[in-house]
Amino acid sequence: MDHLLFLGGNVARKEEHLQMHIMHSCCSSVPTVKKDNAMKSYMVPSTMMGKCQVSMFAALLTFTLLGLPGASAWSNGGYSADPGNPDYGTHDWIADGALSIQTRDVTFLKVTYHSQFLLGTEAPDNPDYIGDTANHHVYFKTGDLLQDDASAVRASEVYNLAKGYLQAKDYLSAAYDIGVMAHYIADPGVFGHTMGSSTDWGTEVHHSDYETYANSLVGSITLPSGLTLEDMSAYDATLRLAEVVTFGEGSIQSNIWMDSNYDWSNSVFYSSAIASLYESAEMVAAVINHLMIEVAPPPPTAPDPPTSLTATVDNYDVQLTWNPPADDGGAGLTWYKIYRGDSLTSQILMKSVESDKLFWTDTTVQVEKTYYYWVAAISSVGTSDKSQHTTATIPPAVAPHPPTQPAAVLSNTVVMLTWSAPDSDGGANITGYMIYRGSSPSSRILMANLEANSLTWSDTSTERGETYHYWVTAVNSVGEGDLSLEVTVIIPAKKSSLVTPVLISAITLALASAGVLVLRRRRGKA
Ligand SMILES: [Zn+2]
Repeated sequence: MDHLLFLGGNVARKEEHLQMHIMHSCCSSVPTVKKDNAMKSYMVPSTMMGKCQVSMFAALLTFTLLGLPGASAWSNGGYSADPGNPDYGTHDWIADGALSIQTRDVTFLKVTYHSQFLLGTEAPDNPDYIGDTANHHVYFKTGDLLQDDASAVRASEVYNLAKGYLQAKDYLSAAYDIGVMAHYIADPGVFGHTMGSSTDWGTEVHHSDYETYANSLVGSITLPSGLTLEDMSAYDATLRLAEVVTFGEGSIQSNIWMDSNYDWSNSVFYSSAIASLYESAEMVAAVINHLMIEVAPPPPTAPDPPTSLTATVDNYDVQLTWNPPADDGGAGLTWYKIYRGDSLTSQILMKSVESDKLFWTDTTVQVEKTYYYWVAAISSVGTSDKSQHTTATIPPAVAPHPPTQPAAVLSNTVVMLTWSAPDSDGGANITGYMIYRGSSPSSRILMANLEANSLTWSDTSTERGETYHYWVTAVNSVGEGDLSLEVTVIIPAKKSSLVTPVLISAITLALASAGVLVLRRRRGKA
């Protein structure tokens, strides 16, 4: 039985607990209770109370009067008086060894809830927690036929509990159950747990003496470096360990060999025992690895491509819009990259825009050309494939739109016209502006033909008491565009008392009372 504790005193930090523990053995020793602090031995952390079906006193009575049925296996170092600082034995050594070769983050087991993890390794033997020692064995028949998979079934059941806790992010409970699971996986590492009266191998002679001696070794042995971390289910790993211990493999001798050649001074026996410890830890490690793989979020990948890319030609620009990818790969998007080509096979990176923008305007296109566009999504992990392409064909150039915001300022009898460039150049650069004056759009006279950089012109040929109408047009290589809005200026018959210059525009109609009037009408056709 597993709970002859602390022989050899190899785990120094536990020595102060020596007197706190219930000593018992299911196989050979009469259970005894160390009196001082025995009650503490049954203190269970509040989170474990649901697992505690047996009252402290009933448990004490059970141990004292009946002993324990069945068999456990590797030592737990005893039943922990202080659940926050569990006693250390072979099961703990195996569990810690299994952690030491993990490649995934098991900080919650190694550090955060390490004491819960170690406490869990004690639970299957401890009747205050689980205490189902009748189910800590795996039996094979001659010919490698499975006879009884009890411990593997329990390991698998507890695995699923631990998985549920991990998925619920209850790491404390998960740590405890992973410790529990480690116990069921590792128990068949003791040859006595593969033998019994119902088996082809008969009842073992050596059991608790083997476990006790093994427990005395764990303070002085460490797992070899360079072990390969395997990935196995709890059920398979438990059976695998039992199979190796039953039939022997490598330096591990068969169960009947170990039982009939029991001798720690025999190097073959000794090496087999040590190898069984290593194998136990490796199998626990393989299952913890399996668990971490099962519950770990998949590593982030590059995003999917953006969707619904559309191109709209507006005023000789191409406006692109798109939708985010259906799957950002788990890392979050940072940028979109916009590519353009003259064909499906030419792609030039035009622009990167931040991932909160879902549009971009290409102002560098030429008339009568077709462009192909793609967008790719970028995350910290990588760049998506390019989206499905879209195309935009720029129409031929037309005459420019009219100049905008025409206005006039009157200074004495000089009319100074101003305007702004058209909202569209018609797809070809503005080459100049033309100024008209007349009594109506149909009677207009060309007054000036200006360069493209001119946005003002002064009329010095006015007479007092007259009314003048002005229009401006823009010109490009295609031709002359439509007339702008009309600007009307009335030149006062007498000198105004107002300070000049006076802004004349649609918003200065109040000046009409001072003899200055400006009207703007809708532009006519050129
Ligand atoms: Zn056990």
